Amino acid sequence: MLLTAAREAIVTTCKELSRAGLVVGTAGNVSVRDGDLVAVTPSGVRYAGLTAEQVGVHRLDGSPAEALFPPSSELPLHLAVYAARPEARAVVHTHSPAATALSALVDEVPAVHYYTELFGGPPRVARYATYGSEELARNVVHALRDRTGCLMGNHGAVAVGHDLATAHEKSAYLEWLCDVYLRAASAGTPRLLSQAQLAAVAAKLTR
Ligand SMILES: [Zn+2]
Repeated sequence: MLLTAAREAIVTTCKELSRAGLVVGTAGNVSVRDGDLVAVTPSGVRYAGLTAEQVGVHRLDGSPAEALFPPSSELPLHLAVYAARPEARAVVHTHSPAATALSALVDEVPAVHYYTELFGGPPRVARYATYGSEELARNVVHALRDRTGCLMGNHGAVAVGHDLATAHEKSAYLEWLCDVYLRAASAGTPRLLSQAQLAAVAAKLTR
């Protein structure tokens, strides 16, 4: 079986995302790139019973290399991210509730907490386009420039990483950041961090 370890890691990640409430039903999708191959969750298979064999492997042009089921409808998004970001080795896309709610309200996630810098700056909101479309893939790549996470307008969130554990962790931090902003904004007008305050955090993170 091609990319056995990556496919097993995707199954574990999907179950954890499901348990954590970051995905519901068959929503969201996860991929791992290894060289010219991409392991990605299949379309329409519930995560509770997902097995490594059901996670397909596709080439960078989208053609199947070893796949029992059609790939996630968002495979074009995953492939576009890998094409634009050679350092990316994993992509996690969720419909987590706070990120999805905030994606309908703002153009970027307000800097309510220093975790903003975990993404290289305030995560942007990609313009809405129909799910699974090349237009949505382009919009997400545009929103992700110089960032490791973004929201997708009226849709959800995307996190990328140099490995799956990092992309998974970033998707959880992104949801947390959106949730904190929504809670603060529901009680008043949140104070936001300044550019200088964020720059000080960025300098500390890269040390
Ligand atoms: Zn989606």
